[in-house]
Amino acid sequence: MQHLTTDVLIVGGGLAGLRAAIAGADLGLRVLVISKTQPALDNSTAVAEGHISGAVGGITAEEYLSRLEEKSGGHADRVLQRVLAYETAAVIAELRNRFGVDYAMRRGVVVVPGSYPWRGLGITRPLIEHAHTKGVEFLSPVCAGDLLTVDGRCAGVTGLDLASGETIAIRARSTVLCGGGHAGIYPRHDNRGRTTGDCVAMAMRAGARVRDLAFVHFHGLGFAEGQEPFDAANLGSAFRKGELRLADGTPARRSDLPHVWEERATSRERDDERFDAFLDLTAVDWQSEAFARIRDLVLPDFPVESEPVRVSPLAHYTTGGIAIDQQGATSIPHLYAAGECTGGVFGAGRPGGAALVDCLVFGRRAGYEAARLARASDAEPPGAEVTPWNLTGPDDPTPLLEEARAYLWNYASVADCLDGLEVCRTRLAELAAAGLSSMPGSPAQWLAWNELRSVTAIGARMIQEKLQAGA
Ligand SMILES: Cc1cc2nc3c(=O)[nH]c(=O)nc-3n(C[C@H](O)[C@H](O)[C@H](O)COP(=O)(O)OP(=O)(O)OC[C@H]3O[C@@H](n4cnc5c(N)ncnc54)[C@H](O)[C@@H]3O)c2cc1C
Repeated sequence: MQHLTTDVLIVGGGLAGLRAAIAGADLGLRVLVISKTQPALDNSTAVAEGHISGAVGGITAEEYLSRLEEKSGGHADRVLQRVLAYETAAVIAELRNRFGVDYAMRRGVVVVPGSYPWRGLGITRPLIEHAHTKGVEFLSPVCAGDLLTVDGRCAGVTGLDLASGETIAIRARSTVLCGGGHAGIYPRHDNRGRTTGDCVAMAMRAGARVRDLAFVHFHGLGFAEGQEPFDAANLGSAFRKGELRLADGTPARRSDLPHVWEERATSRERDDERFDAFLDLTAVDWQSEAFARIRDLVLPDFPVESEPVRVSPLAHYTTGGIAIDQQGATSIPHLYAAGECTGGVFGAGRPGGAALVDCLVFGRRAGYEAARLARASDAEPPGAEVTPWNLTGPDDPTPLLEEARAYLWNYASVADCLDGLEVCRTRLAELAAAGLSSMPGSPAQWLAWNELRSVTAIGARMIQEKLQAGA
């Protein structure tokens, strides 16, 4: 078992984590970032389209605030929205002036150049380079499993070194959770970095307040074939010209689909393909440079020139998560959070480009406050009892994880199956119990075990919120 100690521990190597790490290092403290996937390179930020909105390009902070309020459906924390609106201009300016990020300014948004699928690297690369110059340390692949708590305060995390299979206990004076959203609780999503909401689930297990987990945004249509998530709208006019058919062959218009999904969500029978349709793209010039690149990346083994592609909605963004205050503090002392794993900033919805600027504003705030508190705290973080995970069991929880995700897709996703929410809740509880009593035998199996804990906990909480809201 490995034991490490740091001043500020950041969980997550996406934009929120990188910005928080730099803020912590600015105060001269030891900052350690752990990530279960490669920091800066394998997360939702790295594949983001690079649109960062805010009070820039002729939009005032008050105008941006109105946009935020309009999208939130009255569910957001107004203080957090005000902080966000008023700090967007400064963090966007800093991106270029301090970190050297290149962008083009438009009305109310800046656009960072990049090409599919790694369009967000123009943001994450300069930030991680800067973090290195500030002495921030990175450890990956390391997956956080549980928070360490002592006398009601957070004292770091315990997790698994996914390369060696060793348990790792990291004691920290302050911890910042930046683990991204939870669109990955569904089998069909466009996120990167295994976004199963581990940080939200970990915070919930430790008793932190969470909110708005049921607000999930779905992209209209993505490819359901192939390995790479792909929003079909990226094909531009070729997508619009493609002929759409339902699974039974009936032609459909895109505008009909939400109605079709609602109808299909009335069945209590599990059907993992219930939201699927077929898009005929055989007329697209797949030999042209742009389309050939997409085909090779996204559908290398699929005869897209001759067969319609299976498409379905893709889970894209989650506005809910760990409740924070304006400094990024959670309800647990010494625990902070920032980025897509938090809730309250957006309520039910957000304007385009606001997710990235949220990571910058609250990443910076949370990292700074975590470091400030760490500096004012005891010389060493408190010790906590840690039981190592013993990877000698015979069980692979991956099928349980996949089943949990399929249940959530069927009953609580793009359209809620009102009669099925209880069916789903019961099955999630059974899968969670089976997972808890299973004994993984390898780091990959432990990862699935941990993600099963996250998916079932978040799913259950989401269903509870939906039922309370009358779904
Ligand atoms: C395809 C796509 C396009 C988008 N385009 C835009 C856009 O143009 N503009 C915009 O504003 N928003 C966009 N978004 C949304 C935006 O990219 C995300 O909300 C944002 O990048 C989230 O950043 P984050 O730092 O919170 O999380 P992420 O960037 O997802 O990073 C999460 C990190 O946490 C790590 N992690 C998770 N769990 C654990 C664990 N248990 N232990 C250790 N590490 C863990 C992951 O490995 C990863 O490093 C887009 C999203 C997608 C998927």
